[in-house]
Amino acid sequence: MFNFGSDVKPELADIDWDNLGFGFMPTDYMYIMKCSQGENFSKGELQRFGNIELSPSAGILNYGQGLFEGLKAYRKYDGNILLFRPEENAFRLRMGAERMCMPSPTVEQFVEAVKETVLANERWIPPPGKGSLYIRPLLMGSGAVLGLAPAPEYTFLIYVSPVGNYFKEGLAPIHLIVETEMHRATPGGTGGVKTIGNYAAVLKAQSAAKAKGFSDVLYLDSAQKRYLEEVSSCNVFVVKGNVISTPAIKGTILPGITRKSIIDVAISQGYQVEERLVTVEELLDADEVFCTGTAVVISPVGSITYLGKRVTYGSTGVGLVSQQLYSALTSLQMGLTEDKMDWIVVLK
Ligand SMILES: *Cc1c(COP(=O)(O)O)cnc(C)c1O
Repeated sequence: MFNFGSDVKPELADIDWDNLGFGFMPTDYMYIMKCSQGENFSKGELQRFGNIELSPSAGILNYGQGLFEGLKAYRKYDGNILLFRPEENAFRLRMGAERMCMPSPTVEQFVEAVKETVLANERWIPPPGKGSLYIRPLLMGSGAVLGLAPAPEYTFLIYVSPVGNYFKEGLAPIHLIVETEMHRATPGGTGGVKTIGNYAAVLKAQSAAKAKGFSDVLYLDSAQKRYLEEVSSCNVFVVKGNVISTPAIKGTILPGITRKSIIDVAISQGYQVEERLVTVEELLDADEVFCTGTAVVISPVGSITYLGKRVTYGSTGVGLVSQQLYSALTSLQMGLTEDKMDWIVVLK
């Protein structure tokens, strides 16, 4: 069993809990587990949080052989600590690892490692209502390679950081621009897995959008430039009457756990949900548009700009459906409503 160092006590960290953003803040411990190529991960351990050492020839540094995950822990009013569907992140990491030729921890190893890391950093979990502890698992080719090949050694690492709202506007609407030149993913590529290379590749379009005052970029399919895919790091939904549509998962779209959960919550609330091809024209005619992801949970979209034309939604404020689904999902995640779906893992 792991012991806390005498200098770390499990009370609340001394930081400004009222002004958390989505910035990185170092915490006390990180989890590390290694294995060689062709073997299985067996035993990991907690270490003091700090820099890691890598060969300049590491697979991840030279060829981007790496994946990340993201999930959150919430502190409940009664003192319990809650995780939301951590096995889903474990499954997704395993799928991505298969695509990137890496060994990966078992679902049990993953969930156990997440639990240990969260508990070791308990004092960094924000008080109820102030935010959450963002958990960032990484899987990387840490061994040295020179010729292009899978690395000979792999490292699974988890670090955590307390966070508030992702978009500085909070639940206030975000403004998107449809990107028609650059693409996030292509058929047969890696858009469907959380590999690190997918993210540096969207920085250029995202920076250009931000420079023009938009919050982020909405991508279209690269073959026909006609169907919606997703935003840089979240999935997209379009609401029209009682029907909520979202692009179907087909290799170029990241299968979000928030996406999957929102679909189930929406169905349970009587909406008709369609996973299919959604055309960019449908945006012009939608009642509401919103994005989903662990970091943002739900972000209502206030406007979308496509080929110089701007469409606005919800002139009277945040759309009703976005608001309703946001409340339903966050109250579940924070342990405020009964967990009928069996999605919550209680840590303590
Ligand atoms: C992580 C991610 C999402 C959202 O996934 P969640 O499991 O809901 O956090 C959506 N799109 C992309 C590109 C992502 O990387």
